[in-house]
Amino acid sequence: MVRFRNPVPNTERLSLEAALLWATLPAEVRDRAVNHAWCRDCRQRVALAPSWSGRVAVKKLFLEGSCPRCAAPITRIIDAGTAAPPSS
Ligand SMILES: [Zn+2]
Repeated sequence: MVRFRNPVPNTERLSLEAALLWATLPAEVRDRAVNHAWCRDCRQRVALAPSWSGRVAVKKLFLEGSCPRCAAPITRIIDAGTAAPPSS
């Protein structure tokens, strides 16, 4: 696991592979991934709680976090091939 300083908050935890992928994503994509997550329990957009982590599987970046309001788990999947913002 690797910790980063700015522009990525140092509370984030990413595997090395995820960190490399994360670094290639546009700032807008990273911002949306973290700060515009959808909580199904709260039925509203939330920013992931600061303890979220990231890993890579099948060329996709998986951000695993939780809702800061109700603590429900939230997974964000980002297709690194297109660097498209998550659709959820
Ligand atoms: Zn929630």
